[in-house]
Amino acid sequence: RKISNRKTTSVYKADMHTYLKESMLSEMNLRKGLDLNEFELHYQPQVNCRTGEVVGFEALLRWRHPERGLIFPADFIDLAESTGLITPIGEWVIKESTMQINRWKKIGIDNVSISINLSPRHFLHHTLPFYLDKCITEAGIKAEKVVLEITENVALEDQQAVTSRINLLKDMGYAISIDDFGKGYSAFIYLQHFPVREIKIDREFISELGNNSKSTGIVQTIIHLAEMLGLRTIGEGVETKEQWDILKQLGCSDLQGYYFSRPLEVDVINKLFEEYGRG
Ligand code: C2E
Ligand code: CA
Ligand code: CA
Ligand code: CA
Repeated sequence: RKISNRKTTSVYKADMHTYLKESMLSEMNLRKGLDLNEFELHYQPQVNCRTGEVVGFEALLRWRHPERGLIFPADFIDLAESTGLITPIGEWVIKESTMQINRWKKIGIDNVSISINLSPRHFLHHTLPFYLDKCITEAGIKAEKVVLEITENVALEDQQAVTSRINLLKDMGYAISIDDFGKGYSAFIYLQHFPVREIKIDREFISELGNNSKSTGIVQTIIHLAEMLGLRTIGEGVETKEQWDILKQLGCSDLQGYYFSRPLEVDVINKLFEEYGRG
């Protein structure tokens, strides 16, 4: 028993050791990736539900790793959050996406907003409001072009801190959007306390539209609730014409999803705009 115990301990230690080594390595790599400018943003169009015209883009983070190729957020966001690197990474995202609005403005792609994903930690960070204003000033754009997406997880933080942060950012002209609405348990607390401009209806409800009458009822209820509260709605993860038709009928404001476009690199978007015009 003693022997087997010792064995377990040493196996555990070895695992722990590799685990720590690997996670430290990745943290170092993540920081290096940031310093070496290996991150990039892809942009997914958001369209008006009635007309289908592009009204904005969501900036989605990618890590172009020299050896491992393109890495998606699912593989590094958690690490970035647990190590605190999410704040400098988020600052890079803000800087890059505000500059992108400026570049698009210069080539005639105007009247589009950019939605930025912010982790709860960064959202509450004391420098965020100053940093945002510094970036929009440098880029020569208005705050109203910038939408800040936060998830329901933010409701796990100090509610008063979140409320006053939302109010401050709102007064500064930024729009706040609740991402993945309906996925967590705190959805309604949000609506009661937080003065947000829009909610993004989680893909899980949208993907069942048409297959499952319950989900149609749920989406309908969310849209009605939003209307009553004067909020905009974005349907996320729209993949079929049928889902678009249903959402149009239900009166959703805007849509996003593979049916319209995957997240695209800037060059691709610029070519599309050149080909199909800017209207
Ligand atoms: P999210 O904010 O909910 O972003 C939408 C995700 O759904 C994106 O995945 C997008 O590519 C994907 N998507 C869009 N349309 C469809 C569709 O029609 N069908 C399906 N199956 N998927 C669709 P992505 O880019 O891999 O991002 C995953 C998550 O990573 C994001 O979820 C967001 O929570 C996080 N994330 C992305 N960029 C950032 C960032 O700059 N900062 C932070 N803190 N988080 C980010
Ligand atoms: Ca999002
Ligand atoms: Ca989402
Ligand atoms: Ca999500």
